[in-house]
Amino acid sequence: MIIAISCILTVGVLAYILGVRPKDLPEPQPVSPFQHLDERKAAIYENLRDLQFEYRVGKLSDADYQQTKKDLQKELAQVLAEVDRLREQLGAKPAKAAVAAPKASEPVKYVCPSCGTQFDKDLKFCGECGKPMRKAEA
Ligand SMILES: [Zn+2]
Repeated sequence: MIIAISCILTVGVLAYILGVRPKDLPEPQPVSPFQHLDERKAAIYENLRDLQFEYRVGKLSDADYQQTKKDLQKELAQVLAEVDRLREQLGAKPAKAAVAAPKASEPVKYVCPSCGTQFDKDLKFCGECGKPMRKAEA
């Protein structure tokens, strides 16, 4: 009786979930590029588990088990390789850091043509030797 009730409850909950959820989620979520691979990986692992179980309970011949297991492992390897490839692809194009900004130009120096002393300000006469300062372009 309890089992029957739980069955009905389970069916009811499933029907509820299946019937309601698609309407709740009209827009598919943006999918991570790894998601379908993760799902495939999970499915393969599950198949492997099922396979081992069926083999253990004697549903499968040794040959069938080995063959299916090999197939699944091959598929798994492909999925893992695909994950790696995808990861590399994404990693190969990192957001390029902006090229180092050009160095802040050094503050203009005014150089005394007579003694070579540098001044930050455009002086009329050199503070060192007292001779007239000239601008380079003058
Ligand atoms: Zn000077």
